[in-house]
Amino acid sequence: MFGTKPVKYKDTVYALDQGMVRAFLILGEERGLLFDAGVERADLMKYIREITDLPVELCLSHSDPDHIANIGDFEKLYVHEDEADRLRAFGKADGKELFLIKEGFEFDLGGRKLKVIHCPGHTPGSIALLDEEEKLLFSGDTVSYGPVYMFGEGRDDRAYEETLLRLQEMLERGEFSEIYPCHNRCPADVKAVKELISCIRDIMSGRIEGSPTEMRDGSGNAVLEYRRGDCGIYHI
Ligand SMILES: [Zn+2]
Repeated sequence: MFGTKPVKYKDTVYALDQGMVRAFLILGEERGLLFDAGVERADLMKYIREITDLPVELCLSHSDPDHIANIGDFEKLYVHEDEADRLRAFGKADGKELFLIKEGFEFDLGGRKLKVIHCPGHTPGSIALLDEEEKLLFSGDTVSYGPVYMFGEGRDDRAYEETLLRLQEMLERGEFSEIYPCHNRCPADVKAVKELISCIRDIMSGRIEGSPTEMRDGSGNAVLEYRRGDCGIYHI
């Protein structure tokens, strides 16, 4: 049991922290958006109501089990179109109204807009949310100190590298200056993007040695931990 702890980052940015993972509550003037739904059962609405009276909708960064534990408490939810089948396969979306979103979709929370950035790699329909005005990136699992899980079903190293390169370009154009990840330290330093690029590239080209972990993938292969700077990736 992790418990649920509300954490305030800014007047309009909160996390519901469950120890190993956090969901974000991002507030506009008229609405709020909950980005992910936790790893363990909890009455997230109760925590949300302690923070705001605004109507709040749910959007998923992706469909891995550590992000979807409480989607049953929400009537409808937003998920990337490339992630919907995966979510349904987990059996968690039964009876849910899924609003399928894609690159460029904008949430208008009233005085605050969040733009969907498609980030395939960690999973096919992973997304980040970009607040262009405040220059914040809610990065899901795509950028974090991780270690980022890059083994098992749905992972794609090449797509992940391309996603990270795109985020690095956005960073260099000044489109965001702060990163709010779902795992590990938050905010993450923006240099995490470069570190993850070099980590996944070095894994793909065999230029990096991994350290053993206790984990195995679904086929019984040993999972190794690879590190570059402060960032890490779990990979077979
Ligand atoms: Zn995760």
